[in-house]
Amino acid sequence: MGLIVEGTPMSWKDILPISGHIRYRAALQFLKSYQSQKQRTGDPFLWGDEIEYMLIKLDHTNSRAVLSLNSSDVLKKLHQADDANNPKETDWHPEISKYMVEGIPNIPYGKRGVIDLVSMETNMKLRRKQISELLREDEMVLTIPSFPRLGCDGCTDRISNSTINTQSPCVMDDLISEDNYRFRGVIQGVEERRGDKVNQRIQVYKDKHCSLCESSGEIADRHVTKQQLNNVDIDHVMYGTGCCCLQVTIQTKNLDEAKYLFYPTCDSSVISVFKQLALSASSPLYKGYISDVDTRWPVFVQCVDDRTPEERQLKFGEVGHKGSRSGCVDCYLTSDIYNDKEVTYDEHIYNKLTSEGVDDLMSKHIAYQLIQDPITLHKECLNENNNDDTEIYDIMNSSNWRILRLKLPIPEQNIGWRVEFRPMDVQLTDFENAAYTVFVTLLTRVILEFGLDFTLPLSKVDDNLNRASRRNAVLGDGFYFKTNIEKHNTMNGMMGDMISESCDKEYVQMTIDEIMHGKDEYKGVIYYMNKYIAASKEFDAKTKLTMYRYIKLISDRASGKEKTRARWVRDIVENHPSYKHDSVVSDVINYDLMMKCVNMSDMQ
Ligand code: ADP
Ligand code: MG
Ligand code: MG
Ligand code: MG
Ligand code: MG
Ligand code: MG
Repeated sequence: MGLIVEGTPMSWKDILPISGHIRYRAALQFLKSYQSQKQRTGDPFLWGDEIEYMLIKLDHTNSRAVLSLNSSDVLKKLHQADDANNPKETDWHPEISKYMVEGIPNIPYGKRGVIDLVSMETNMKLRRKQISELLREDEMVLTIPSFPRLGCDGCTDRISNSTINTQSPCVMDDLISEDNYRFRGVIQGVEERRGDKVNQRIQVYKDKHCSLCESSGEIADRHVTKQQLNNVDIDHVMYGTGCCCLQVTIQTKNLDEAKYLFYPTCDSSVISVFKQLALSASSPLYKGYISDVDTRWPVFVQCVDDRTPEERQLKFGEVGHKGSRSGCVDCYLTSDIYNDKEVTYDEHIYNKLTSEGVDDLMSKHIAYQLIQDPITLHKECLNENNNDDTEIYDIMNSSNWRILRLKLPIPEQNIGWRVEFRPMDVQLTDFENAAYTVFVTLLTRVILEFGLDFTLPLSKVDDNLNRASRRNAVLGDGFYFKTNIEKHNTMNGMMGDMISESCDKEYVQMTIDEIMHGKDEYKGVIYYMNKYIAASKEFDAKTKLTMYRYIKLISDRASGKEKTRARWVRDIVENHPSYKHDSVVSDVINYDLMMKCVNMSDMQ
């Protein structure tokens, strides 16, 4: 959940009257930082992952697995243990729910050179070991995105002192972590600003006896309301924010490189995110049902939509129209050609930034971002004397939950421009998490090295992202993709003329397999990655071997040789002896699934 801050929380009611003022101040903070840091260059290639862990409690006698709301306690112990470790290899953060913690490497990778690509998995294993050692005997730690029965009655361990086998109603508010005021603030802020409860729907997987589905014109279960028909209804922000993800932050040499990666000319990374999403798909189960989505992303996006009912109805061009605060990105940063998404931005902020010499697209990006109201703040950050820091901007940046995030430099800590990749579902094993982190990290090297240009109109990228979350998307229909991606020799050669050259509007539909392994003239992403590894003088033989093993996993998932975790999970549920083809993930199915997950993550 990003930034961790302390202070006296403000409610949305307190924020509302001063929101415009705060947004403008955030823009001024951005401006100041931008002007002092825009020329910054020569920062080393560093990167780091964030893994979110889920705490589970197992009741073997009754074959039940529930959420353990013990993260605050676990976190305290982790910090104590961490502080005693020398060198300190890991660091731990609270997360939005009482059943999650977030772990990161204490020092970003790359400080010892690219050799760190192999030490990531070791660090991830260390983190898992550190948590596991602190858990109670009946507790487990898993890296799965969505808890299959979150929201079902009796889904947590906080019911009675004696037994967890009590079907007490699940009160979602009780799951919010108290370890940072921002957590409750975000959830309340979204709800209060919306003016109604989150009432979103995830399409249910229509198995033949599914009671939520219309069967031969009749609804099998008469309790199903019209709204719920064919859907699992989602009525709390936590269904989205309470999912675990894998994020990767990469430091770039300078702002140009960050722009290139972030919204490259060609915005290669924006294009690559849908592949990451489809390939990392691990979360098909919600609220005790099998759904028709494979990743947590669309659930998350719906759950944090804080627009009022009126705002949600408005079309572009109508007064008050506003995009959502999460989802894809709104504009490319280095070329306007493919910016075909019509999104309203704050013109006052845009005018201020451009008049101060910020380029047009960067100004637009910030003006798009800051049209969103702050939904959580603390009183202390409003002190008007605080004009040198970027606290307000950072808070707003970290509640804009886009698929990519541009992070400002922190000059006092000698931290440069960074790009964060946020779409991926967390993977069950550390081998997989390391493989996906390497995939993203190396892909940025490959994009920069070969000057690859994947540009597509942003509306097509949106479309790709939607497709990427569907059931079995990885093997499913095509995605918009460009065949001629080798436009430029190197990034340096490209920066000047890239914009005029990338007018090429040719794109076709390709499957993930084709995107990764090639089709006709197009050689495929894996080809470029292997070529990069083979040619690298920095990698020794052992590093190369590890890289190839990671890439093989991704390659096999793209071709279907290896199941995505989402498929793996679906197969376990659908083949369970007690599964009634009713799309329901019962307690016992959930327990057996969690046990399989535990075994799989131990076995790795
Ligand atoms: P947030 O939650 O705001 O995204 P975190 O502190 O949880 O931030 O995670 C930051 C990630 O960035 C960690 O993986 C960390 O190792 C990594 N990181 C820290 N400093 C740098 C840097 N200079 N360059 C690249 N990555 C960094
Ligand atoms: Mg997090
Ligand atoms: Mg992050
Ligand atoms: Mg974090
Ligand atoms: Mg710490
Ligand atoms: Mg909750």
